[in-house]
Amino acid sequence: MTIQSHIDALRKTIPSGVKLVAVSKFHPAEMIREAYDAGQRIFGESRVQELAAKKNRLPEDIEWHFIGNLQRNKVKHIAPFISLIHSLNNEPLLLEIERQAAANNRVISCLLQIHIAEEESKSGFSPNECRRFLEEGKWKAFPHVRIAGVMGMATFTADENQVRREFRQLKLLFDELKTAYFPDDPFFKEISMGMTGDYRIAIEEGSVMIRIGTLIFGGR
Ligand SMILES: *Cc1c(COP(=O)(O)O)cnc(C)c1O
Repeated sequence: MTIQSHIDALRKTIPSGVKLVAVSKFHPAEMIREAYDAGQRIFGESRVQELAAKKNRLPEDIEWHFIGNLQRNKVKHIAPFISLIHSLNNEPLLLEIERQAAANNRVISCLLQIHIAEEESKSGFSPNECRRFLEEGKWKAFPHVRIAGVMGMATFTADENQVRREFRQLKLLFDELKTAYFPDDPFFKEISMGMTGDYRIAIEEGSVMIRIGTLIFGGR
């Protein structure tokens, strides 16, 4: 099977309102080009240097998403072009994104990364930390950052009920935050959840953005 056929098959199974982020981390620019030629335009990367190197070799109209843990001192390298940062998970990072976005005369969209998994290894705001962060309201003073929704990763487990519970929790949190802080903000609309192993469940539970690597590009 080719990358093109993987993408075509995947597109048939996802509803039209769900955006597909092709996660190309650790795969070479040539493979991204193949997906691009199959019509894919949104790609997700998790390392700043790798992303910057690939961007230079690929078409300008690609929409690059950053999905990994983002260190503050590296924000400047992606600020000129990044379309969406899925991993806003602390306030100092927000400050730095604001600074670099302003320096580039841009507004950068970000998702609040929420820790929904039982596993300790996954990073993000806890639901309560996220509530506190929004309640404090400092983010409102940052005109170059647009908070556009939430992102979360479920526990890596064969227990589908647990995965479903975690995604459901994220969707409920999104609804709560939307009502409390973004009721009139059309940009707060993204729920990024679901990867190769669990995207079907994520869509059933309300995901509007799935991040798929292995199913498109094969193993890493
Ligand atoms: C690697 C990664 C993905 C893609 O995972 P697959 O299982 O290969 O689909 C999605 N989201 C994040 C945050 C990742 O780091």
